[in-house]
Amino acid sequence: MTIDVVEGDITSLQVDVVVNAANTRLAGGGGVDGAIHRAAGSADLQRACRAIGGCPTGEVRVTPAFRLPARAIYHTVGPVWQGGAAGEEALLRSCYRHCLQQLIEDQLQSIVFPAISCGVYGFPPQLAVPVAVAEARRALRQRPDLGVIFCCFDSAMADLYRQALSAPS
Ligand code: ADP
Repeated sequence: MTIDVVEGDITSLQVDVVVNAANTRLAGGGGVDGAIHRAAGSADLQRACRAIGGCPTGEVRVTPAFRLPARAIYHTVGPVWQGGAAGEEALLRSCYRHCLQQLIEDQLQSIVFPAISCGVYGFPPQLAVPVAVAEARRALRQRPDLGVIFCCFDSAMADLYRQALSAPS
């Protein structure tokens, strides 16, 4: 099983799939979404996203990676944190599960995730990270050849992932 944690910019990683924390309109935005659009080439990526139309929360849509050093971008829409009683955890789990299922369906191997919903969408990282790690472990039990990377913008977030990964599954 390989699950790695890296600190830095998700757009610089060479992997099969880069996951984007998108919005339901797939319209691009700030944070990791903006960084991915800029690095992939905004015009190309916006055209591809417009052709798809949108994506419900918890699901995934696929576009080419254009100028990113990857084969595809998986756009998934995390939940906006509303206090925790609105099904946020299940929706976040669904994001990771759908992306990992799509990776297997597409017969690709390596995938990098940002900390979905942990920025502007306000999901508490200490609750989000165990969900992400549990879903990665679940996929790797099914397909031990997969490589999952969690890319963090700061070291506090990376520490949370390292802690979760050092705990038994
Ligand atoms: P959301 O709207 O789903 O909350 P954000 O983009 O606001 O998404 O933030 C998600 C996480 O991605 C945050 O932890 C943020 O620090 C991180 N982030 C922002 N830009 C990048 C980047 N270029 N590479 C990796 N992580 C990033």
